Parts: sequence; structure tokens; C-alpha cells
Amino acid sequence: MSFRDLTQRLAEISQKIAAGEKLVSTLSVVLDTMRSITSAASARLVKEDTVTIEVVATGMQHDALGDMDLYIHHYCQSLGQLETPDVSSPPEGIDLRSLEGVMTSLLAFPLKLRSEHKGTLWLGFEHAIDLADTNREYLQLLGLQAVIAINNTALMAESQAAQEQLSALLANDYEPIVIVDTEHLIQVFNPAAEDVFQIAYTNAHLKPFDLVVKSEALQQMLQAGATAPNDVEYQSHDNRTFSPHVSEVRAEDGTLRGWLLVLRDVTRFKNLSENMSDFLRTVSHDIRSPMTAAKGYVDMLTMVGPVNDKQGLFINKVLTSINDMTNLVEKVLDAGRLDPEMDVYEIRREACDPGDVIKKAISTFAAAAENKGIALTADVAPDVPVMFIDSLMTERALLNLVENAIKYTPDGGKVHVTARVEDGMLILSVQDNGYGIAPEDQARLFERGERVRRKEHKGIRGSGLGLFIVRNVARKHNGHASLQSEIGKGSTFSIAIPLTPANLVGGSASQ
Ligand code: ADP
Repeated sequence: MSFRDLTQRLAEISQKIAAGEKLVSTLSVVLDTMRSITSAASARLVKEDTVTIEVVATGMQHDALGDMDLYIHHYCQSLGQLETPDVSSPPEGIDLRSLEGVMTSLLAFPLKLRSEHKGTLWLGFEHAIDLADTNREYLQLLGLQAVIAINNTALMAESQAAQEQLSALLANDYEPIVIVDTEHLIQVFNPAAEDVFQIAYTNAHLKPFDLVVKSEALQQMLQAGATAPNDVEYQSHDNRTFSPHVSEVRAEDGTLRGWLLVLRDVTRFKNLSENMSDFLRTVSHDIRSPMTAAKGYVDMLTMVGPVNDKQGLFINKVLTSINDMTNLVEKVLDAGRLDPEMDVYEIRREACDPGDVIKKAISTFAAAAENKGIALTADVAPDVPVMFIDSLMTERALLNLVENAIKYTPDGGKVHVTARVEDGMLILSVQDNGYGIAPEDQARLFERGERVRRKEHKGIRGSGLGLFIVRNVARKHNGHASLQSEIGKGSTFSIAIPLTPANLVGGSASQ
């Protein structure tokens, strides 16, 4: 074969590799070219991957050649370069006699890429071989082309499999998925995203996120990246509720490539939670009437005839239980109403003197405090204004704080309730010298249902709803609830309500 023919063949092989043509067709050209260069009677290639061994053969076909494929392939795994196994004296245990009368000699060499054995190429000759050095170099060049073709095919199969998996993942019906690059240009926009954001992939691809997704909340989340809040809700055009989540997309070397936005459909959970809240509201509401009736009848027991000491004691116990239950029902109702997730409570503003709210709280708990020998005192600063707030809810919040202060202060302690103005805020505080709360427990106590269990609290019953109510009453007035506490020394809980026009008599309630 002339040099010109050879270069033409090499160009043809390279083209086949670049075009991703069928591997067998590319390898056949490689093998044919090798035969032309060396006058070999047969050229064969054994290719092994993790599961299969395949043979591509050109030239003379004979069973004896097929028998040799695996032997030569294994033999070559230990070879580094072109070598000619001696057919007449084979390694122990291997019978090469089958080649007798078919081939006199053979030339085999491993196909290696970065020291990985990708396959074996071997040529069979009817006559003894005597290869010129240049021909050996050509063979090596062709061998290299074969390795590249094998490797490319494997890589393409791998990337195709990864692509198919990714497509399957993205094609899911439920979760909108958007991936943007570091410039916030949309790279991935799955069918669920097309549906939720009402825009086709072709119109979204490579467009700035803010142009495609009109939600300000989602735009801000993407700006915030990994520090985006996780309590955002997104309402779609068809009234589904989604919980969005943003995470980073990084390359293997850690470089930031962009951001992934996934929206989880939480409509079902939201409905369930709403149904549950509705149910709780209805049941709590309906329990109130029979309990009021029961309390009425128990109260009347002493009026209809003499009651002995034991009966009197039992009556008191029944009344205490009814009170506890009524209290719990009221808390469940308050917590349901004020739950920000439900957002059902309409604040009812009216003129309200904070001094009166404190007086009511003191009188409500005077007996309970006395029972524990607790000194319950109050102080209202003279500059405290009359407010325009939800007095019923503010009263309930303060009642919860005073109730807690008495509950979590040992007998003989002190509870002091104050109203004052500080930094443009009305501050209602309840201070006790009770058990106190450890710093690590303080933050979560304002969440729904959170309670701290300490050995001193043994026997103290509670629902974990009180502080949740307190915080949400404060928030309804654009204020906040806070806590200062030291274990063993006591706690001070405060409700801060800003003295904005909306919260003051004569101001604008719409603010
Ligand atoms: P609970 O019904 O359990 O009292 P709350 O929401 O009112 O529910 O309070 C939550 C938790 O906060 C309580 O379980 C208690 O551990 C702690 N706590 C509340 N007030 C005080 C206080 N004044 N002193 C110590 N711990 C308190």
C-alpha cells in the first residue's frame, strides 16, 4: 500500500470516528488497512467491556482463528507493545495446534489507552512474517485509531445514558425544575415548569430568569441563592401551592456553574393541613357549649342542697378539670385563628387601655398566684397611651404569659407585669423569678407545640400553644415577642407593639 493510499485510509477512519459511525464499520476499515499493509490473511479485533466480549474479523475465516481470539486477548493483557507470540511453542496449557496448516505465524498487540486494556488486535499470516519498521509504525498508528474509536463509542454511550436519565428526571409531571447559569440565563426548563410558568421551553431557553418567571418572590430567592429563605410559597395559575427550593450547581472542581430551582407541589399537604385545622376549629367550637353547660350544673350543685367536705372537694376538682379543658379549647381556637399559614384572622381593632388589659390578667390569675404563694404585681408607666389594637387578642396573649409565669415559678416566687413605652413601642412584660430557660431552648419556644421538658416541670401540663399565640398576636400588630431568661434566675417575656398610626387611636388603621 502506498503512503498516499495509507493517508487516505487514515483520513477515512478519522472521519468515521468524528461522525460517530457504527463501531464495527470503523474497525473493519482499520483491520482491512492492516491486512493491506502486512499481507496478513486475517485481521481480528477482540473488544472487551465490563459485560461482553466482541470480535470483529476481516479476511480469512476459520474455526481455528475463532478458537484463538480469547487466548491471544488474555495473553496480550500482559504485553506492552507489538509482539509476536511464537506459534510453534505456546505457553503452558494452551494448545495452538489448531492453527497448524492454517497459519504459520501471527502478530498480536494490545490496544491500550492510559494503561487500560481496551482490546486486542491480531493478524494471522500464512507465511512467515518479516515486517519493515515503517509498517510496524503504521500498524501502531492504526491500532491507536481503533482504540480511539472504541473509547469514543463507550463515552458516547455513557453520555447518552446520562442524558436519557436526566431527560426522564426532568420530564416528571409534577415538579417544575429550572436551572440557570451564573448570569441567570435559563439552561434547563422542564415540561412541568412550562406548565406552571405558562411559557414554552423554546421561549424560555437562554432567556434571563426574571423575564420568564414573573414572580418577585422567586426572583428574590434566586438572587439570594443558597441563603434563600425556605418558607416561601408559590401559588400557580391553576391554584396549586408550591414550595420552592434553590441550590447551587457546581462543577466537579467546585466552580459555581449556576443555580437549580425546584418547586415542590405541596397542594395536597396544604389541603390536608387546612382540613385538619377546619376540623380542629369545628370540634373545639362545638365542645365549648357542652362544657359551659357542665360547668353550670356543677356550679348549681351547691345551690340545690348541702354538700359535705368530700363532695365539695370533688366539685372543685371537676371545676378545675372543666376550666383546664375550656382553656385548652380556647388556645386551640386562638392558635388556629392566628396561624400565619392559614392567614384567616382579621384583626379587630378598638380603643384599648393597656392598663385595663393588665388589670384583667392580674384579677384572672390572682387566685392561682395566691395558691402558690406567688406575689403577683403590676406597674403601668404613666406615658402608656390608649392603643387602637385587638384588645381581646392582646388580652389573651398577656393571659398566656402570666399563666406561664405562675406555672413555671416555684411556690413563693414573684411575678411582675408591666406596661411601658420604649423606642416608639408599647412593651408589655411579664417577669418572673422562676425556673428560667436554657439559651439553646429559647429560640424555638415560640413555635407551635414546642415545650421544654425539665425535671422541675414535672406535673405541669401544657399544650405548647401559648407562646405561639403570643408571638402571632404581636406580629398581627407589626410587632414582635421576645424573651430574656437565665436558668435558675427567671424569665422576662415581652410583647412589643409599635406606636404606629395604625396602632394608635386616631391613626390610620389601614397601615
Ligand atoms: P405550655 O402550654 O407548654 O406552657 P407555651 O407555648 O406557653 O406552652 O410555652 C412553651 C414552653 O416554654 C413551656 O413548655 C415552658 O417550657 C417554656 N416556658 C414558657 N414560659 C415560661 C416561663 N415563664 N418560665 C420558664 N419556662 C417557660
